[in-house]
Amino acid sequence: MVQCSPLVASFKKRWVQLAGHAGNFQAGERGKLLKKYCESEQQCLQKLMGDSLCPFVPGYYGVEQLDEQEYNVMDDLLADFDSPSIMDCKMGSRTYLEEELVKAREKPRLRRDMYEKMVAVEPGAPSAEERAQQAVLKPRYMQWRETLSSTATLGFRIEGIKKADGTCNTNFKKTKHKEQVMQALKDFVGGNNPNPGIYLQRLEELRTELEKSPFFRTHEVVGSSLLFVHDGSGRARVWMIDFGKTVPLPPPLSLDHRTTWVEGNREDGYLWGVGQPHQHPDSNAAR
Ligand code: ATP
Ligand code: MG
Ligand code: MG
Repeated sequence: MVQCSPLVASFKKRWVQLAGHAGNFQAGERGKLLKKYCESEQQCLQKLMGDSLCPFVPGYYGVEQLDEQEYNVMDDLLADFDSPSIMDCKMGSRTYLEEELVKAREKPRLRRDMYEKMVAVEPGAPSAEERAQQAVLKPRYMQWRETLSSTATLGFRIEGIKKADGTCNTNFKKTKHKEQVMQALKDFVGGNNPNPGIYLQRLEELRTELEKSPFFRTHEVVGSSLLFVHDGSGRARVWMIDFGKTVPLPPPLSLDHRTTWVEGNREDGYLWGVGQPHQHPDSNAAR
């Protein structure tokens, strides 16, 4: 369920949610954001506070209870911006964990909710059998979903874009081809941004840290996003968010995040999605 409206507009004017369930977030105090507790996310945020990637992750402040629900407390990354433009790009060439695929196969359960989501996006997608059952199996749904967007072909997909003028688009489920993705990126990067080149610089800084990070090397990073934020002042930042599906690898396994995924190797394609180092003056490192 994609949300686009300010979630808690009454006492928090700036914060905007581009993905996930609306009920997962609460505004916190003094530029903080509360996200519904998830243990793997807590573990990751905690470890990231001591990793070289720390400057690229929202500050993490532990767990807080509110109305019988636990939340991870983190920085609201929009708090210091004035009418920010924001973009959420879900990184990687796969958006489910290997363990999810294994689990989904172990207990085959027909899912009506997934069938309905499938039909809503691509009415012709279900097979005759699936249509008769009005349901699909989860592995089938997971693999179908990856083919719709640029996830499998570019190593990332756009989840949502909100521009400074208030317009918001979270309808990128079928934005797959490079030309379409480039157009959306150009539109975002150039809109109300006095310094469009800064994003390339930010991504290069991030890639340098990713390549050095012990955390990154030892985790399968799936379903995590890069949040791009800029405003009319010429400032722009790129942060890593959403670690609900980022899991530690059994030692001594490590990933380069570029090697093609073959089930069992745990590779997630994250760095492949970020792009190659700048080699030629006329090449585009961010693709
Ligand atoms: P999903 O797994 O479906 O992507 P989720 O419930 O795990 O969703 P996130 O992806 O972490 O939620 O966040 C959803 C949206 O909320 C992001 O796209 C972004 O717009 C906003 N958001 C998340 N974390 C922050 C943050 N620390 N500061 C500002 N905005 C944030
Ligand atoms: Mg997300
Ligand atoms: Mg998530």
